Amino acid sequence: MSRFPSPTLADRIDDRIQELEDGFVRLGDEDTPFTLRGGGESVEEAQQLHDERDERERERDEESNEPVTRTVSTWRADMMGLDFPFVDTIPLDEQRSRANQVAELAVDEDVVDRIDRDVAFRSDTVRGKYWRGVGLIEIGTDRDDFPGFRSGVVLAHEVGHAFYDAWSPDSGVDDQPRLFRTTDETEQAVALSERLHGPMVETDGPFVDYRKGSDEELAAAVFASRIIEPTAAQRIAPDAVRRLEEVFGDLSEDLF
Ligand SMILES: [Zn+2]
Repeated sequence: MSRFPSPTLADRIDDRIQELEDGFVRLGDEDTPFTLRGGGESVEEAQQLHDERDERERERDEESNEPVTRTVSTWRADMMGLDFPFVDTIPLDEQRSRANQVAELAVDEDVVDRIDRDVAFRSDTVRGKYWRGVGLIEIGTDRDDFPGFRSGVVLAHEVGHAFYDAWSPDSGVDDQPRLFRTTDETEQAVALSERLHGPMVETDGPFVDYRKGSDEELAAAVFASRIIEPTAAQRIAPDAVRRLEEVFGDLSEDLF
C-alpha cells in the first residue's frame, strides 16, 4: 500500500506554506501551477486580459503548462511562452479528464482492478491510496487543496503506482531493478515530484511513504506529470520521462 498525503493540514511542515503579498498561498519556495492556490487582484487582471484573446489562441495556450510568473506585465509581454497561475495553465477539469482517461486504460488493461472515489480516509491528510496486490485505488481529495493534491494529479499518481507494480511486482525486496538509474534521471524525477507536490522533507508519520523519495514514488510523480502536462514534463525532465516511457510503454501500447 502507498499513501498519498497532502501537507495542507500537517503541522510539521506548516512553515512550508507561505502567504504571499499578492494573495497567493504557496507550498515551498517555487511558483508552480501545482503548489499555488488563492490569488487576488492580479489573477482577476490577468483573467480579463486572457478573456480578450482570440478563443482558439486561448484554448491552445491552456493545453500546456509553460513557466509561470505572478507578474501580470511580464506575462502580458509573452502570453504564449509564459503562464499566469490558474489563468492559462491547464484547467483542473482538463487535468481530471486526462487522469480519468489513463485510469480507464489501466482498468481495461487489468493494471488496476477498481477505483473508489470520494473516499473518507481516517487521516484527513491522505488524498489517495494504491493497494498493492489488490489493484485497488482510493481517492479522497479536498476542493480547497493545492492543485497538486486535487483529483487529477492524485489519480494519475496512483495509476503510476499501479503501473510500477505491474512492472516490478516484487519492488521493495532487495536487488529489484530501479526505474531511474542515472543521476540525471533521478534529479529530474525529484524536480517533477517537487513541482507537483512541493519540497521533499525528511519526515515520519503520514508522510513517510510518500516523502522518502523512493524509486516508486518518483516514478508515480513523473508518471503523473507526463499524463497531466506532457509538454512541461518533457521540457523539465527529458531523461526521466524518456526512461519512464520506455519501461511503462512496454506494459501498454496505448499509454503514450
Ligand atoms: Zn505515491
